[in-house]
Amino acid sequence: MQGGDNMKCPFCKSNKILKQGVRYNSAEKKQKFSCKNCKKWFVKKDGFERMRHNKKIIVKSIHLHNEGLSLFQVQDYLWQHEGVKVTRKTVSDWTKKYSVFLK
Ligand SMILES: [Zn+2]
Repeated sequence: MQGGDNMKCPFCKSNKILKQGVRYNSAEKKQKFSCKNCKKWFVKKDGFERMRHNKKIIVKSIHLHNEGLSLFQVQDYLWQHEGVKVTRKTVSDWTKKYSVFLK
């Protein structure tokens, strides 16, 4: 994984990037940036964008786990219903990492 600090402007590829604060919506935290070189703005999503698995699966897992299913049951559900194989550790990591984005 790449370090978050060597970012480049998606427009002009300059690395003179300024952080401009964070916007929130229901599902994710977005860091806003502006480029010193071309003065354009862009947004880098800080939540679901970096996930290997799709958002629907993760939201579902967190939901099921909050409903009281064990990590094993969530894992089993994903395999049975979504055809997705994950480890219990992955499910556990999701609930820790991403439940903050679902509030
Ligand atoms: Zn730029």
